[in-house]
Amino acid sequence: MGGAAVRARRSVKRLPLDHMHCISSVTPSRSMPYVAACSPGMTKAGGTFPGGRWLQLSWMLTGGRMQVVSELAGRMPRTAEDLQRLLPGVGRYTAGAIASISFGQATGVVDGNVIRVLCRLRCIGADTSSLAVIDCLWDMANTLVDRSRPGDFNQALMELGATVCTPKSPLCRECPVKEHCHAWRRVEKELASASQKLFGKTTLVPDVEDCGPGGCPLCLPAAEPWDSSLGVTNFPRKAAKKQPRVEWTATCVLERRGRLGAPEYLIVQRPSSGLLAGLWEFPSLPLAPGLQEEQQKEVLADHLRAWTRQPVQTQSLCFIGEVVHIFSHIHQTYVVYSLCLDGDVALDAASSPSRWVTEEEFRASAVSTAMKKVLKARETQRGAQSGHAKGSKRKRESKLGAAGSTPTGMQLSLRAFLRAQPPP
Ligand code: SF4
Repeated sequence: MGGAAVRARRSVKRLPLDHMHCISSVTPSRSMPYVAACSPGMTKAGGTFPGGRWLQLSWMLTGGRMQVVSELAGRMPRTAEDLQRLLPGVGRYTAGAIASISFGQATGVVDGNVIRVLCRLRCIGADTSSLAVIDCLWDMANTLVDRSRPGDFNQALMELGATVCTPKSPLCRECPVKEHCHAWRRVEKELASASQKLFGKTTLVPDVEDCGPGGCPLCLPAAEPWDSSLGVTNFPRKAAKKQPRVEWTATCVLERRGRLGAPEYLIVQRPSSGLLAGLWEFPSLPLAPGLQEEQQKEVLADHLRAWTRQPVQTQSLCFIGEVVHIFSHIHQTYVVYSLCLDGDVALDAASSPSRWVTEEEFRASAVSTAMKKVLKARETQRGAQSGHAKGSKRKRESKLGAAGSTPTGMQLSLRAFLRAQPPP
């Protein structure tokens, strides 16, 4: 039994599951987040953020901090509802985690670990991405959360899923909540039934866990009923994974010379709903499939004209390369161009919010990982151009020798690779 499981067992004894308050006394591991750093006035991260979901919290400490300072007068929203409403990129989980852990709001969190624990506790066997299941899990999390120690409770519940109620090898016998777990109860019932049969008793225990064939939006689907060989890992069930849809986006790193000679970039804010809601990005627009480079440049030049309110020549757009970013449901390829502008450019105030930023400001802004990759591609291009300008033959040879990758080792897409081939 792992250390966390031992701590969980010691800390949680005979809890009434209907309230599950005792789970909050499970001691979080030392690597649990130090979310106090999110409190107003903090200027740098104060702890570690293990796991992908905590990366969103880490984002809060960089781009989100800027947003709080510049747009909310330094006042950090303190409730899950306000966090989600006022800070771009903060979803339901992140808002719940910050509000409960940092500000003591009695609100639940539902992440992958919590989904697994709750589905097993209540034998929820329907597709966990369905609205009915999602709503049910959030209702449960909000009901169960300990009113006096919500942050500890939420961390303990996540920790229970990460260390005891694991996806493939749950430690049910050591689990502090097994008395309340319907999935475990079902396994025990089957074991009892099997041993009765062994001793010649044929009384079969009726199955009372499922609501019956069809109809229930939470039970195991009739077509895929309980499988005894899986035990508690019958739960949760996931929908068959869909192939991510393929999308293309033209993006332009629009640049001007700043006051001190360093480049400044134009970034614009995405709409407040949908993918990457409210985050900042280089001016971008979706591309219809199959457009050739000249056609891409034309639509991009039109798009840029709307931002800069001045004519943009397609021939001044310089192709940088393609940057691939995989979202959970989208295979996104950014076709990246750059454009350097002379002099000052008046931005169209009627359009979505936009601003010029230095490289440092860009990195501190609420920008997506994909946009950071785009900027990196631009910097790589700049490095290659300056190497070219110096006429370093050795550099050119090494670049050609490394066809298929950029000087920084970043992988090129197939189309970009083919474009990078030198003429015969
Ligand atoms: Fe998970 Fe087993 Fe504990 Fe149930 S008893 S919550 S399935 S570890």
